[in-house]
Amino acid sequence: SCDVVTFGEAMAMFIADRPGELHQIEKFTKALAGAETNVSIGLARLGFGMRWISKIGNDAFGKFIVEALRKENVDVDAVFVDDRYPTGFQMKSKVLDGDPQVQYFRKGSAASTICPGDVDMSFFTSAKHLHLTGIPAAISSCARELSFEAIKAMRAEGRSISFDVNLRPKLWGSEAEMIETVNALAVQADWVLPGMGEGKLLTGYSNHRDIAAYYLDRGVQLVAVKLGPEGAYYRTPTEEGIVEGFKVQAVDTVGAGDGFAVGLISGLLDGLSVSEAVRRGNAIGALAVTAEGDSEGLPTRGQLSAFMEASVII
Ligand code: ATP
Repeated sequence: SCDVVTFGEAMAMFIADRPGELHQIEKFTKALAGAETNVSIGLARLGFGMRWISKIGNDAFGKFIVEALRKENVDVDAVFVDDRYPTGFQMKSKVLDGDPQVQYFRKGSAASTICPGDVDMSFFTSAKHLHLTGIPAAISSCARELSFEAIKAMRAEGRSISFDVNLRPKLWGSEAEMIETVNALAVQADWVLPGMGEGKLLTGYSNHRDIAAYYLDRGVQLVAVKLGPEGAYYRTPTEEGIVEGFKVQAVDTVGAGDGFAVGLISGLLDGLSVSEAVRRGNAIGALAVTAEGDSEGLPTRGQLSAFMEASVII
């Protein structure tokens, strides 16, 4: 059975084997990239029934993506093969400190051609929960339409929806359009997860309380503002608080937000309190930055409880 459905673009990713400018690197390690596939893998490792909806090209990258997801027990029955367009890929630099450089080769990818007509909506509505990000809306007008259609179908069935804004300014035509569209999606979700910088850009407010209030005033039930190593702030119509982050040695900062989403969503679906779910989000966000690949650090139930228990300060 399917607990959570997501949709979006996955890519093959080539991670540089040593620090340096991307064009000078000879050796790369191949991995899987994509916010929605990261969240799918993370939730599947925690035992949730996951479905990922997308399109891939009829090529080696597409086969790689599907095989990697099958191995992680993610349902790929609604992953369609397109013979006309290729699967996208990306290259990621290795850095000793800070954020790595990421270069995308995704324009005109098979995933960006996905349209509402390609997907039987029961692939969405047979799941209990939809997790959406702002990325599909950025890659094409078709994928944007499907984002709105998926939300509409899930809301009509009374299903819950989480939305990670995942701003990708470079993929959008204009910043104003990005802000307007991402907010139009966000206000229809139950749980919204902006990073601090993203929240500022989207709402115009500069502190976490006001950012959260902006979405709560528009009908959102929970806003979790991610604060990097400091943890996260949460606010609902009845409660709010800051939950401190976990102390880890960061290896690669990409994927922290996806890890946070895995923790928060799984916690809420498991029936934890909001603050406990945010704490789990912090834990998985921290675990994600300890590994090089974007989904490598995502834990099983056993690994998660071992990490959270070891980090309790007595
Ligand atoms: P991303 O870089 O994936 O887009 P984001 O901006 O969405 O990330 P962050 O605030 O960077 O979100 O990270 C999400 C969560 O992961 C944080 O709320 C925090 O709990 C955890 N986290 C991130 N970086 C670190 C770190 N260096 N040490 C410990 N925890 C971290």
